[in-house]
Amino acid sequence: MPIKPIRSQADLALHGAPPAYAEALHVGRPNICDREAFLQRMGQVLDNQWLTNNGPLVQEFEQRIAERLGVKHCVAMCNGTIALEIAIRALGFSGEVIVPSWTFIATAHALYWQDITPVFADIDPVTHNLDPAAVRRMITPRTSGIIGVHLWGRAAPADELQAIADEHGLCLMFDAAHAFDSTYRGQPIGRFGRCAVFSFHATKAFNTMEGGAVTTDDDELAEAMRLMRNFGFAGYDNVIHPGTNGKMIEACAAMGLANLDGFDGVVATNRRNHAAYREAFAGVPGITLLEYDPAERNSHHYAVIEVDASCPVSRDHIIDALHAENILVRKYFWPGCHRMKPYRDLFPHAGLLLPHSEAVASRVIVLPNGAAVDGAVVSTIRDVIVALISKGPTP
Ligand SMILES: *Cc1c(COP(=O)(O)O)cnc(C)c1O
Repeated sequence: MPIKPIRSQADLALHGAPPAYAEALHVGRPNICDREAFLQRMGQVLDNQWLTNNGPLVQEFEQRIAERLGVKHCVAMCNGTIALEIAIRALGFSGEVIVPSWTFIATAHALYWQDITPVFADIDPVTHNLDPAAVRRMITPRTSGIIGVHLWGRAAPADELQAIADEHGLCLMFDAAHAFDSTYRGQPIGRFGRCAVFSFHATKAFNTMEGGAVTTDDDELAEAMRLMRNFGFAGYDNVIHPGTNGKMIEACAAMGLANLDGFDGVVATNRRNHAAYREAFAGVPGITLLEYDPAERNSHHYAVIEVDASCPVSRDHIIDALHAENILVRKYFWPGCHRMKPYRDLFPHAGLLLPHSEAVASRVIVLPNGAAVDGAVVSTIRDVIVALISKGPTP
């Protein structure tokens, strides 16, 4: 496929889309499954003249997500970050909460935004998920909870984290933003901990353009979050709880319903591409594709390679070479939440306690995936890297 000049999603947020954006090959290209189904749903929205405030499409969306994920409640929200904030508040977190640093910044922000201190624990360098032993080390008398992140859609060690939470009287919830439809020990991940928070942002495997949800089996918690997402309104002229505006709009539910029907197709494409990447990088020195447990469901949305010290060229040179070909791979979470200004100011020496997070952050490249990627794209990416390596070590 022709690959035209592009800029990153982050650049776009700052500067707006260049004309060639639609043809770009970049990480985070949205999955748009069925245009006709979406437009038909949008027709329904306009006919209903019900654009937001728990409309019929949002209700249908919540029901379908709850069924698919095998949970009692799905509370749809305007985005994953607000969903995290509302869940954190509904659970009554305070003081310090233990989170990985190796995650998207929103996990930390959702706490800090509410005057709760995110305390970063290190990860397992193989799975990239929280290391239970590291979590134990970060517990203090101020700790009120743990947020596990199912990174790359691979389940965090929920049983071990629950045992720690039980032992210390802490509340456990999950940031499942990457993990729509993933399983842990064969069970859908939305049921672990007190609740799980999903993001349906455009860049995620399953998207509603912007959107998110909290899933839980806890009736009271679900009710509290429903109140909080709608200003605390219990009925006309009756506010019984402090709240905010976290509502999902009907247009987003329309996208979600259309994309839900196409999701299995997206996963099949991702799996095919993942296998092609595996084959392409077998035998390339110092480059390993992050593997997913074949016994668990995973959308395979994230095609992640790690460049280690045995690779003759550096991770950053590989990224530069691919960018020069307009293949916009990404570092992701670099340099780690603990090295971003707000948290660096808070914990200037956090890196000393996070050796695996720092090492992984320096090794990772996220490759494009989804419908825009095929065998030819995978070969091009491999060829660019192999050509770079054959030129010899970078200074
Ligand atoms: C995307 C993401 C979020 C935030 O979700 P939004 O819908 O973009 O607000 C939170 N946590 C993680 C791990 C994410 O990847």
